[in-house]
Amino acid sequence: MLELWQKLLQELNTLFPQAFEIWFQPIKPVQWNEKTGELTLAAPSAKVNTLRQTYRTVIEQLGRGQLGIKPFSVEIISNGASASEPEAVSSDKRSSDEERLEKTGLLPGLTFENYVHGNANQLAVAAAEHVATSAGGQYNPLYIYGGVGLGKTHLMQAIGHRYLDLHPKAKVRCVSAQDFINEFAAATRESGATNSQKALQQFDERYRTLDLLLIDDVQSFSGAKGSQAQFFRTFEALVPHSKQLVLTSDTYTKGLKDIAPRLISRLTQGLTVAIEPPEFEMRIAILLNKAKAFNIDLPEEVATFIAKRLKSNVRELEGALQQVIAFQQFQPSLGKVITIDVAKRVLRDQFSVNNNSVTIENIQKTVADYYKIKVADMFSKRRPRNIALPRQIAMYLAKELTQHSLPEIGANFGGRDHTTVMHAVRKITQERKTDADLNHELHVLKQIIIG
Ligand code: ADP
Ligand code: MG
Repeated sequence: MLELWQKLLQELNTLFPQAFEIWFQPIKPVQWNEKTGELTLAAPSAKVNTLRQTYRTVIEQLGRGQLGIKPFSVEIISNGASASEPEAVSSDKRSSDEERLEKTGLLPGLTFENYVHGNANQLAVAAAEHVATSAGGQYNPLYIYGGVGLGKTHLMQAIGHRYLDLHPKAKVRCVSAQDFINEFAAATRESGATNSQKALQQFDERYRTLDLLLIDDVQSFSGAKGSQAQFFRTFEALVPHSKQLVLTSDTYTKGLKDIAPRLISRLTQGLTVAIEPPEFEMRIAILLNKAKAFNIDLPEEVATFIAKRLKSNVRELEGALQQVIAFQQFQPSLGKVITIDVAKRVLRDQFSVNNNSVTIENIQKTVADYYKIKVADMFSKRRPRNIALPRQIAMYLAKELTQHSLPEIGANFGGRDHTTVMHAVRKITQERKTDADLNHELHVLKQIIIG
C-alpha cells in the first residue's frame, strides 16, 4: 500500500508541484483493498472536503491511467486532526455540514441546487423533488436506477438534504446497501458473542424509527439473504406507516439478481424512475456549472470540446474538468483562461482510450453475446426477429458509439446498404422511447461496450 501511495505521490508531484506540499504531503494511506481496488486515504479534517471535491478524481485517474490499476477508487477520510491553514468555507458552515454528515450520512454539496436538469433526468428530478417535500405519500418507495456515474447518489442525497432543511428535527439516514449489510453482520456477530439479542434489537430500532431512509445501490443486497430479510422488516416498519424510503440501483427492479421475490415486489410498489446518460446540451451545462462552482471561467468552446468527447457519464465529465482546472491552476505560466490546447494536452490519454476501444467488431461481439446469437448472424441475411433485432441494435450502437459513416457500418454488417443501417437507427431510436425493456438493454450494452 505504501509503495502504491509513493508512486501516486510522485505522479501528483509532477502534475501539481505547487500544490504538493499543502495538499498531498499531509495525506496518509490507511487501507488498500487489492481485490476491489479501493484505496482509503486519511487527511486533516479541514482538508478532506477540498481533497474530495478537487483531487479525488484526479488521483483515481492517475491510478487507472498512469499506474494501470483497474478498478481503482479512492476514499478520503478525516484523520481527526485539524490542519493549521484556514479553509475558505466558514467554520460554522463546515461544522454544521460535518454534524449532518455524522448524524445522517448526507454528504455536503450533494443538493438539488448543484444538480443540473436535462432530458436525461427530468422525470427523476421531478419525482425526487416531490418526494422531498411530500415524503411518505404516493411515491413510496421511490426507486431510482441508472448506469454508473449518472447522478443517482447525488439525487438521492439531495432528497435527504431538502427534507432535513424542511424538517430539521426529522430522523434521516442515508447508507449504502453494503453498509447496511456490514452493520447488520456486525450486529449479528455481537449478538452471537454476547448471547443476547441486544445488538440486533438496537440495529432494528435504529432503522424502524426513521422518518426517511435512503439506501444507495440496492443491487448489493444480491445474495445476502439475512440482510434482505432484515431489510424487508425495515421496509414493513416504514413504508406502510408513511415513512419515506428512497432507493437507488444500477438496474431496474426486474433486473435485480438474487433478491427475494417478495422484496422485489415491494420495491416495485411505489414509483420507479430512470436516469439516462446526459445529452450533449446537458453535458455542457454540467461542465459550465461545475466550473462556476470552482470559480473558473470556462470558455464555451472548451466545454463543447470536452462534452463532445466524453459521453457516457457525469463522473467522467467532472473528472476531466477537474484535471484540466487543476493543471491550469498549478501552471501559472498558462494564464487564467482555459484553452482547448490545455484541455487536449491534459485529456489526451482519456480521449484516445475512449476513441480506440469502441470498434464495430467489438459492438457486434458484445451484442451477439448479450442476445445469445452467433457473431456470424451480424453478417448473415437471416431475418427471424430474434436475430434481426440484435443486428439492428448493433447497427444503432455502431452509429452512436463510433465515428463510422452509414455506408461504412453497412459494409461491416455483411455488405448491407446504408439505407438499411438508417432504417435500423430510426427504428431503434423510436422503439426505445416506448419500450422500457429495450431502453434498459441498450443502456446495459452501452456500458459494457464503453467499459
Ligand atoms: P451514481 O451514483 O449514479 O454512480 P453520482 O451521483 O455519484 O453517480 O454522480 C457522479 C458525479 O457526477 C458526482 O460528483 C455528482 O455530483 C455528479 N453529477 C451527476 N449528475 C449530475 C447532475 N445532473 N448535475 C450535476 N452534477 C452531477
Ligand atoms: Mg452512486
